[in-house]
Order: sequence, then C-alpha cells, then structure tokens
Amino acid sequence: MEQNPVNTIVIVGGGTAGWMTAARLAKHFRKTSINIRLVESSEIGTVGVGEATIPTLREFYRELDLTDDDVMRATQATCKLGIQFENWHMPDSAFIHPFGLFGQTANGIDFHHYWLKLHRAGDTSELADYSLGVQLAKHHRFLTPSPHPPSELSVFDWALHFDAAAFGRLMRDSAERQGVERIDAKIEEVLQHPETGFIETLKLDNGNTVSGDLFIDCSGFRALLMEQTLNTGYCDWSEWLRCDRAVAVQSERLGEAPPYTVSLAHRVGWQWRIPLQTRQGNGYVYCSDYVSDDEATNTLKRHIDGPLITEPKPFQFTPGRREKAWNKNCIAVGLASGFLEPLESTSIALVETAIHKIRHAFQRPGYTQKQVDEFNDLTAQEYERVRDFIILHYKLNGRTDSDFWRECRNMAIPETLARKIEAFTQQGELIRYPIEIFGPASWLAIFSGFGVYPEHYHPAVDKLDVGYLEQALGAMRQSVADAVAEAPTHEEYLARFTASPNNGGR
Ligand SMILES: Cc1cc2nc3c(=O)[nH]c(=O)nc-3n(C[C@H](O)[C@H](O)[C@H](O)COP(=O)(O)OP(=O)(O)OC[C@H]3O[C@@H](n4cnc5c(N)ncnc54)[C@H](O)[C@@H]3O)c2cc1C
Repeated sequence: MEQNPVNTIVIVGGGTAGWMTAARLAKHFRKTSINIRLVESSEIGTVGVGEATIPTLREFYRELDLTDDDVMRATQATCKLGIQFENWHMPDSAFIHPFGLFGQTANGIDFHHYWLKLHRAGDTSELADYSLGVQLAKHHRFLTPSPHPPSELSVFDWALHFDAAAFGRLMRDSAERQGVERIDAKIEEVLQHPETGFIETLKLDNGNTVSGDLFIDCSGFRALLMEQTLNTGYCDWSEWLRCDRAVAVQSERLGEAPPYTVSLAHRVGWQWRIPLQTRQGNGYVYCSDYVSDDEATNTLKRHIDGPLITEPKPFQFTPGRREKAWNKNCIAVGLASGFLEPLESTSIALVETAIHKIRHAFQRPGYTQKQVDEFNDLTAQEYERVRDFIILHYKLNGRTDSDFWRECRNMAIPETLARKIEAFTQQGELIRYPIEIFGPASWLAIFSGFGVYPEHYHPAVDKLDVGYLEQALGAMRQSVADAVAEAPTHEEYLARFTASPNNGGR
C-alpha cells in the first residue's frame, strides 16, 4: 500500500490538546528527522476549562518524565478519587463513582453477586462500604495506592483536579525543551492541493506561511482544518445527550477541598465543583430547550459559596464526534475531534488515546490509508463507548421534578447501551466491549448509585451459607474501615504542595 511520507508535522492550536500532542510526539519522534511546529493564536486564546481528569492522565505525564509531585505543585492540583453525584438519583441523594473496585472477586465471580445474596438476606451494608476509593473520598482522606496487587491498598486509583492553563504551560515547556517550534499567529487561510485536497500550507496574519506533510487539528470547537477546510462532517448525538450549553466561573474556595469532583444535578442539567489548591472551578451544563442562559447563570451563581473571581463564561456545543478523526493528511485531536459533555471528565482522556493511536500509526515516518481507516474505526468506538456510559447517568435518573429529567429517563437509547443494561439487570453481568475507557467497576458504581441491581445473582453463590458470607464480608468492611482510619486527610496530603510562607512550601 502507498506510503505517505512525513517530514514536518504542523499542530494547529495551543490548548491542552495541542501542547499535550506536541510534547508527547516530540518524545516519540526524537530519534527521527521529523520536525514539529505548533501554531497558536494568543489573541484567540484557549477554551479555558477542562480541569477534572481521570487516572490515565498520570500515566501520560509519567511518560514525559513528570512525577505526580511535579504536576501537583505546578498546577495547584488537588487529588480526585472519583465523582460525587448529588441529587441525580433523586433529590437529596448522593453516591460516589470511584476510580476503584468494590470488594474482592472470588472463584471468578464478581463481588457484587456475593453482596447481593447477603443484601437479599436482610444485610444492610451498602456496596460502597466495600470500596476503599469511596470510603477514602467520603471521609476526605487520601493516600496513594500501593503499586503491588493483591495488596488491599492497590484497589483504587486517583486523578487530578488541576489549573488547565498551568497544565498547558507544563506541556508547552516539555514540548519546547524537546525542540517543538512555537509560532504565535492567527491562521487566515488554509491552502490545499488542487487535486488531492490534502492540506499544504497555512497563511498567517503576520504574512508568513507554514507548510507541512501532516497537520494535527487542535483548534478546538472551530475545527479550522477538519471541518472548516475539509468539511469532514459530524455525528450529532444530541438525541441522547440533551445538554448543549454550559456556563463556567471560578470562585474562591471556602472550606476544605474534598478529594472528588462534585456533580450536582439541577432541574435542567448539572453543576460541577472542582476544587483546586487555590480556588474552585464551577460550571453548569444544561439543555437550552428547557432553560435560558440567564436563568442557568443565575442558578449557577446561587449554588456557589465563595466570592466569584472571574466573569461567567458561556459555551455552546453539539454533543458528538467528527465523522472521521483522520481525513486526508489531517488528524483532529481534542475538541476539534468531538465533544460529548464534561460529565465524566473524558475529553482530556480522549486526547491521550488519540495521541496513543498516532504514535502507534507512526512506527515509521509515513502512513498508509489502511492505518487511517484503522485509526478512524478505533476512535469511533472509543467515542461511542464513552457516549453510552454518559447516557447511562441520564437514563437511570429517578427525578420527577422536571420535563428535562422525564425526557432523559424515557428516551430511546443506543442498542449497545441497551444490551449492557439488560445483561446487568437480568443476571448481574457487566459486559465489557473491546475499546472502553470505563471498566466494569465504573458501570457497577453507576448502576448501584442509581439503585439498579440484578434480578438474579450468580447461581454458584447460592451454595454459600449466609453466615459464612456475613463473616467474610464483615471482615472486608473492617479492613476498608481500618485503612481509611489510618490514612491522612486530603488537606494533610496537600499541605506538602502548598507554597505558603507559613509552611515554607512543605
Ligand atoms: C464547559 C466545558 C467543561 C469541560 N470540562 C472538562 C473536564 O472537566 N475534563 C476534561 O477532560 N475535559 C473537559 N472539557 C474539555 C476540555 O476543556 C478540552 O478537551 C481541552 O481543554 C482541550 O481543548 P482544545 O485544546 O481541543 O481546544 P482549545 O483550548 O479551544 O484550544 C484551541 C487552540 O486553537 C487555537 N486556534 C483556534 N483558531 C486559530 C486560528 N485561526 N489561528 C491560530 N490558532 C487558532 C487557539 O488559539 C487555541 O490555542 C470541558 C469542555 C467544556 C466546553
């Protein structure tokens, strides 16, 4: 198959996606003659949100030789053990989706089957009592997991809440140190090959031009190359993901920082609270069919404790993905490639998986159409699996206070999601499709958080005596409680990064 050679890569955009891509590809291509240039416009700026992550991010920056401490310190980060969903199931309810397991699998049978038998026999313990991640979060405690399974301290994971601008600077420093050339200018025109339509040159507002062989479109919602130039097309998923707007604002943080993101459901949509060391990020994600922008902004303001330190910033989006993530000689990464909504903090994780696939495609400095097709296929699956997981939260809601939530509960859902719900509710099976960011424990967290349990537990569990189960599960609960009691508080853990004059930057 014909090889398209690549000597120069041009990245368009210097937001989180652009600089993450630049830093990681610079490392990947360090032993080749490929050069990487990044064009960004400081006049246009970046989207300025995207501050909650999932644990895969830590793997990503470790590959750039950055430690957790480096990133925590540089980005005023706090630790994230999961997300607390408040008022989603119904008003005054709360549950945590942790990055971690619930109980221990035994004899190849998932823990929730054992728990379910005991529960049906009248035991009042909750599934969450067996999750160290949940219990640490609930008690505002934090410790780093043991890297040595089967240690009981290895059953959870964590991510960061960080300052997006500071993280962008960290990525930019890494990229520039590795030789990426930064050009600060606005792209005014994109020139294509007259026959193939491949992108050849960018014309800048300073009169210069930039040419390349491969273009990576990290231009955000504009999708300057992928959509405005190549007219790639978009899969619109707003029939399932009804929220299409957001408003975000930063505030002073009052009180201690919880080691989790808060997702607080309102009458139409939900609000995030993301604690940083120095401030708090807030936003309200809503559906414009049901609430006006003014009303949404007022709702958000009413639900923030500390004084605001920025002006509310509005966003509009269409949930979905580009028809192709790679079209001709252009790959879209970040918001240019699609956006679902921020509910499970997946957008930056999808940037990571895109970069991973680019590295995989470029074992040699060129690519074939077969690689392009494979890339598009995998990207479509990744987005679809995340889409289903997010839809699940809306579909299972039990709120009766608005048409918005009723519509979400009654909507038809994708077949792939319907199969998963059916397999779980009938026999407690947690189906895992090949390309999934969220594993079975995450699905279990959402099902149980919404009070959805299987009709039947595994038949093998029937042979076990209830007394034996009571004893075994009681010991598990105790071991979780002991580990929580010994862990430092999240605030104690953060104190080592706080460069205040009083603690000498411990
Ligand atoms: C409301 C909201 C909340 C979110 N919350 C989360 C979250 O909690 N977790 C998460 O993982 N993700 C979240 N995201 C997504 C996350 O913000 C993005 O995935 C991430 O910031 C990457 O954005 P980007 O780099 O693709 O785009 P941007 O930050 O928009 O960057 C685009 C870049 O392109 C440049 N550019 C554009 N046009 C031109 C031009 N003509 N010439 C030159 N340069 C140009 C801009 O200057 C900029 O540098 C959220 C998104 C939204 C909208």
